[in-house]
Amino acid sequence: NAKKAGGNAFRVFDRAMLDAMAARHVLEEDLRAAISAQQFELHFQAQVDAAGHLVGAEALLRWRHPRDGLVMPGSFIPLAEETGLIVPIGNWVLEAACNQLRAWQARSEARHLTLAVNVSARQFYQEDFVDRVMSGISQAEIPPARLKIEITESLLLRDLLDARTKVGTLRDHGVRCAIDDFGTGYSSLSYLANLDVAELKIDRSFTSKLDGADNQKELAIVQAIASLGRRLGLEVCAEGVETYAQYEVLRAARCNLFQGYLFGKPVPVDDLMPALTDQA
Ligand code: C2E
Ligand code: MG
Ligand code: MG
Ligand code: MG
Repeated sequence: NAKKAGGNAFRVFDRAMLDAMAARHVLEEDLRAAISAQQFELHFQAQVDAAGHLVGAEALLRWRHPRDGLVMPGSFIPLAEETGLIVPIGNWVLEAACNQLRAWQARSEARHLTLAVNVSARQFYQEDFVDRVMSGISQAEIPPARLKIEITESLLLRDLLDARTKVGTLRDHGVRCAIDDFGTGYSSLSYLANLDVAELKIDRSFTSKLDGADNQKELAIVQAIASLGRRLGLEVCAEGVETYAQYEVLRAARCNLFQGYLFGKPVPVDDLMPALTDQA
C-alpha cells in the first residue's frame, strides 16, 4: 500500500506512469511516420462458400515496423483511433483495397473475388467517407459490388441516423456493408430492419465453441443468426472457422460464407490464390 511504503512508492508509481506515457508517445510518433514511410501493408484472409471455393477475402492491416517487425492491428489501431490517425490510415487501406481489386479484375481467375475492408467509427463518421469510398472505386475502375465495408454494432449505435444514411447511400451505389463481430456488441435487432446492410459476420466466439461437448447454446445462437439473416435476405459469414467439424455445423445451419484458419490465415496477396487453388 502506497501510504505505508512512503514516498518511494509514489516515485516508483510516477516512474511507471512516465514510462508508459513515453512508450505511448514513441508509438504515436512511429505511427505518424509510418504513413509517409509506407510501412503499412494488407494481408488477405480467404472467404469460401459452402463448397469450399474461394469467393473473396478480408483485408487485414499490418504494420511493417522497421525495428519491431510485423505489428498486428490490435497493438496500434486503438491508439490510431484515439489520435485520429486512423483516418489517414483507413483512407490508405481503402485505396490499397481498391487497387488490389483492380489487379484482380485483370485476371480471369480472380475477377469474381470480393474484398472486405474494416472501417473504424472515426473514419466512417467523417463527412466525406462515402465520397472517399466512391472515388476509390471509380479511380480503380472496379465494380462497386466487389468491395465490402465491415462495420461493427457499436459503430452503428454511435449515430444510427447518420449510419443509416451512409449505409443506404453506399448500397445505392452498389457497395455492400457487413456487420462484423455480430452478436457481441450492443445488439439491437431493430436496426436490422432499418439499415440496408447486406451481410452478418457471426463472431468467432460463437464459432469456436461449436465442436465442443457443451455447445448447445452456441449452436442455438448460430442457427438463430443464420436463419434470421436468411429471412432478411442477408449473407451470413461465419468467422473463425478452425476445424472441419465447425465448418460442417455452420454449413448445416446454412451460413453461406466461411472464414478462418481452416481455409487459411491472413497472408500476403501472392499466397492467397495458390493456397486455395490447392484446397478447392
Ligand atoms: P476482425 O475484422 O474481426 O478480423 C478477424 C480477426 O480474426 C483477424 O485478426 C484474423 O486474423 C483473426 N482470425 C481469423 N480467422 C481466425 C481463426 O480461425 N482463429 C483465430 N484465432 N483468429 C482468426 P487481426 O488481423 O489481428 O485483426 C484484428 C482486428 O483488427 C480485426 O478484427 C479488425 O477489427 C481490426 N482491423 C484489422 N484491419 C483493420 C483495418 O484496416 N482498419 C481497421 N479500422 N481495423 C482493422
Ligand atoms: Mg473484420
Ligand atoms: Mg470480425
Ligand atoms: Mg473480431
